[in-house]
Amino acid sequence: MSIAWIGLGNMGGPMAANLVRAGHHVTGFDLNPAALEAAAAAGIEVAASVAEAVLSAEIVFTMLPKGEHVRSVLQGPEGILASVAPGTLIVDSSTIDIDSARQFHEQVSAAGFRFLDAPVSGGVFGAVAGTLTFMIGGADDDLAQARPFLDVMAGRVFHTGGAGNGQAAKIVNNMMLGITLAATCEGAVLAERLGLDAATFRTLASSSSGDSWPLRTWYPVPGVVETAAVNRDFEGGFATVLMHKDLSLALAAGESTHTPLDFAIAAHGRMAALIEAGYGDKDCSILVRQVDGTIQI
Ligand code: NAD
Repeated sequence: MSIAWIGLGNMGGPMAANLVRAGHHVTGFDLNPAALEAAAAAGIEVAASVAEAVLSAEIVFTMLPKGEHVRSVLQGPEGILASVAPGTLIVDSSTIDIDSARQFHEQVSAAGFRFLDAPVSGGVFGAVAGTLTFMIGGADDDLAQARPFLDVMAGRVFHTGGAGNGQAAKIVNNMMLGITLAATCEGAVLAERLGLDAATFRTLASSSSGDSWPLRTWYPVPGVVETAAVNRDFEGGFATVLMHKDLSLALAAGESTHTPLDFAIAAHGRMAALIEAGYGDKDCSILVRQVDGTIQI
């Protein structure tokens, strides 16, 4: 089966590479030459445009920053809808707003194609390891067609309902991630200042009531947990701009459902301040440097 992949960044690159390793032929496109170079090294056939990448694809994946990027890649004059064969299944794994995802379901199906919203959780390490959690919104038979490919990239696949419900699940999940990340950054700095050994504290908290995914996976003290971006000067990983975007999506959902989200508002404010201070491209766990006073915002 021929697969097209649009968006070969921190997440899309390793996800597409896992499909190649599983024996599939993947043709990919990205605007960033460095992403294309890494993709070619991983065995992905590099195309010169979106249109060229999707030309003979039976399934198309997109992994792009925001809804506006998905819209332009789908609907642009040289975009996916103008270039793929009738009936093609398009799977968007980007994290985007629920309304756009529902519009894409309608527009793609009106144009004679099929669509799933399929955002993921698990970070760059989950993308590399093929252990992502997928949250799927869309029809059963479309999920059944995508399933063998998702299984290559996934630890778990959850069908969370109809159009847009994958994004709804992802937005709530990431709101909780943003809040627990902030708690973990504050806890890590406080623990050190109280004279606790970082590695011992993180191990005990991970089997105590302070446990969370950022505590286990992103603990923001160097040398404690391999998967943490603090070990790589906060390069790669989950960019502060993307965490800010996800918290913005949660706040919008909170407004439309009249849900008070005070802790999400606080985490969103910290991400906005880090972006303002020039750290938007760094991994969002750089928040720890604001807590410890290295970054003044
Ligand atoms: P990224 O910025 O590393 O990758 C996005 C890629 O899309 C970039 O390489 C960019 O050049 C490319 N792109 C943008 N516009 C394009 C276009 N018109 N045509 C072709 N390529 C285009 O971002 P990422 O970290 O890979 O995240 C992608 C999505 O996954 C986001 O929605 C993010 O919120 C979500 N996500 C990220 C993580 C994480 O830990 N990084 C985890 C889960 C979900």
